[in-house]
Amino acid sequence: MGKPGLFEDTAFFTSVASLGDLPASNAEVAFAGRSNAGKSSAINALVRRHRLAFVSKTPGRTQQINLFRLRSGALLADLPGYGYAAVPLDLKRHWQAFLTRYLATRQALVGLVLVVDARHGLAELDLELLAGFLPSGRSVLILATKMDKLTQAAQRGAQRNIERALAAAFPAQARQVTVVPFSATRRIGVETAEALIGEWLGVDNGEMPMRDPTPGADRAHKEKAPRTRGVSRGPKRPR
Ligand code: GDP
Repeated sequence: MGKPGLFEDTAFFTSVASLGDLPASNAEVAFAGRSNAGKSSAINALVRRHRLAFVSKTPGRTQQINLFRLRSGALLADLPGYGYAAVPLDLKRHWQAFLTRYLATRQALVGLVLVVDARHGLAELDLELLAGFLPSGRSVLILATKMDKLTQAAQRGAQRNIERALAAAFPAQARQVTVVPFSATRRIGVETAEALIGEWLGVDNGEMPMRDPTPGADRAHKEKAPRTRGVSRGPKRPR
């Protein structure tokens, strides 16, 4: 309870509406998903805050990337939800291109978290996004969310369906993708997701190996001495 982790003290950083306005970043993890898949709820569950990423915002209206800053200095990019039915096709295509361009050009990006409603599985737009991203060799975490709405048997079936669809669509790249059963409301899969994202960022159990270029950032970090989380630790880093 209350143990510090990768996402503790995550704070809103900035919003950008164009890729040219993205701030410098050493390491970034992006969250994407269809509108209403449960992306905001998943982010809120991970950062243990109810309204850091807003749930129930008007879907499909904004094209902003919202950036949050982790203690380590890494950024979490909340990408605009896609596929909202009421948005005209032209606008949908425009947004899809925006996301594809972000994924293709963002150097700092270490991995993509794709939030998928477990009951619906991977949609065409999810597959398109993956097709653009996987060739870069980077990792993908699929949060198969809203698992609390399914029976145990249906949960296993939903995960298998997603894994099968991945294997069929991306036979050469399936190993880059991890599917984790998730529920924001029941907090299923939260720790697994956190551990995996921590691995991507090289943040080991609350330790902060990344250098933050902001003056005074080191001092700020030292005031919050990292504590262990009771899972296996990597080698100690020299201080
Ligand atoms: P977003 O558009 O992808 O950011 O989706 P939201 O996070 O706003 O969630 C869309 C709807 O699904 C909201 O009504 C949420 O309360 C609901 N929801 C999201 N995650 C879960 C979950 O894990 N379990 C359940 N039962 N409902 C969820």
